[in-house]
Amino acid sequence: MSDIIHLLPDHVANQIAAGEVVQRPASVVKELLENAIDANATIIKLLVKDAGKTSIQVIDNGKGMSVTDARLSFERHATSKISKATDLFNLQTKGFRGEALASIAAIAHVELRTKQEQDEVGTSICIEGSKVSRQEPVTTPTGTSIAVKNLFYNIPARRNFLKSDAVETRHIVNELQRVALAHPAITFFMYHNDHEVYHLKTSNLKQRIVAIFGKKTNEKLVPIQEKTPILSITGFVAKPEFAKKSRGEQFFFVNNRFIKTAYLNHAVKIAFEGLIANNQHPTYFLFLEVPTESVDINIHPTKTEVKFENEKDIYAIIRATVKHSLGQYNVAPVLDFNRDASMDTPYSFKNKKQVEPGVKVDRSFNPFIDKKEASWESLYVGAKDVEIPVPDNEEEHESTQLFTPNEENTSFRTQQLHTKYIVSTIKSGMVFIHQNRAHERVLYETYLRKMTVGEAVSQQLLFPIKLAYSNPDMLLIKELQDDLESIGFVFENKTNEHLIIKGVPSHIEESEIANFFEDLIQTQKEETPHSSFSQVDQIAKTLAKSCAIKLGKTLTQKEQEELVNSLFICKEPNTSPFGKACFTTITIEEINKRL
Ligand code: ADP
Ligand code: MG
Repeated sequence: MSDIIHLLPDHVANQIAAGEVVQRPASVVKELLENAIDANATIIKLLVKDAGKTSIQVIDNGKGMSVTDARLSFERHATSKISKATDLFNLQTKGFRGEALASIAAIAHVELRTKQEQDEVGTSICIEGSKVSRQEPVTTPTGTSIAVKNLFYNIPARRNFLKSDAVETRHIVNELQRVALAHPAITFFMYHNDHEVYHLKTSNLKQRIVAIFGKKTNEKLVPIQEKTPILSITGFVAKPEFAKKSRGEQFFFVNNRFIKTAYLNHAVKIAFEGLIANNQHPTYFLFLEVPTESVDINIHPTKTEVKFENEKDIYAIIRATVKHSLGQYNVAPVLDFNRDASMDTPYSFKNKKQVEPGVKVDRSFNPFIDKKEASWESLYVGAKDVEIPVPDNEEEHESTQLFTPNEENTSFRTQQLHTKYIVSTIKSGMVFIHQNRAHERVLYETYLRKMTVGEAVSQQLLFPIKLAYSNPDMLLIKELQDDLESIGFVFENKTNEHLIIKGVPSHIEESEIANFFEDLIQTQKEETPHSSFSQVDQIAKTLAKSCAIKLGKTLTQKEQEELVNSLFICKEPNTSPFGKACFTTITIEEINKRL
């Protein structure tokens, strides 16, 4: 039998390889922009014709190439960026595979013009289907211009596969946005069919985001900043109210390289949980810096997928950081609950001298506790009919009370409607609060705080409760034991067949305990636990759900007021921990319109 294996000619090999790097015009844009950045350009122009199908040109003012380099740059595996294998783990440049230009030249007509600063004349090279058709000296400014025409001219199947101009242009714009976001100091121009699409001036990140996504973006952004030994994060997330129905503006950069990562996207999404509806997507621009040796960029030809050494830790840090920043920037309601019209300075008083008010505040005074009871803790002792835990920060509490008690005035402030809503008047109109969701929110935040601070308030059971579960379910609960104990559960660890509960958190009704564990096991099975954060979160949620005031329950005036006040000192009172609205308002304007 004769031998049948032979080596493919270069141009065929190049075409095959090109398929990996160049899927569509936008891929060419990405590669050319990245090369310009690696060449230290400060001004980059992108000129596109017919969604890149006719031509794509990138002009930069970077360092340019010598005659020899210009010729070599189109060879496969020709790169100036790495020289040995270990360099792969210390990448400082966008490119390193040395195959973009070779790939592009295999499937298009390419014209290169380039000149280095110190040279008098530059070099012009034309290549068609990997073959150099012309090379000559030219007069050209320092820097490089590469024009890519008639993409896929020699692969009709590929060309026919391209989408409409609108879609392909969108992809190109996306690529430009990614590169421009990562390099706000660089000036970018983009023209499509001679119309200016972008002129992005040198700026900082925030200005760049606003320049790309519009002026309105400015007020939406919440800064993110965190530094840990394995990762630092900077950037912005948009406030929850600006979340989108479509997965639009979500940007992750790792060491200034745009990457796609469903896993880390999930971390951000979870950080927004309870703040945005389930079908909404948060907007974010997050820049991660990790040690170069802890991330592998070389797992995909387009370099947009990466592999992290500490994926799980990174997930947890991102999640916690975003959550924390949202809390810090008090991305909560802009309702004017605390504002009392009588506190507004009347116009005629404006120029009068300020007099320091002589009111003394008794910090230990708490309106909702019987004066004989001394402390907040007393709220947690013993099972009462309905207890609404109030966050521990007294000062914060005082300043944000919606209803300050007034012993003379016992008139109506809230009203229960259909044993479902608590209705009250507010300055701008009326508010309707969903009693169950509101209480879920209050409890959820309280439990989370307890678990992080580790202060358990437990209620001893007279008769321990014995519950039976399957082995895997028992193991699940065992895994959560520490967290459960941190919120007040006390277990007897004698047997493996039964769960014996001797104490429970102080707000849980005995009748709810079995339900709670069922729910907890169920949610643990559904959720892929990514980190210890999400476990704590799940427990807090499940417990809040089990213990919250149910619909149909009549509440006393005091209970209503406590609930409302507790809700509005929550970090995120707008939604329940499950993403449902806790309240709605009807403004006086709306009422006026109806009457
Ligand atoms: P890589 O970027 O992976 O090195 P490319 O095929 O994209 O591979 O480019 C090959 C080489 O050509 C680069 O390493 C660089 O030396 C040179 N080059 C490409 N584009 C430019 C440019 N705009 N300015 C200067 N040099 C460039
Ligand atoms: Mg490159």
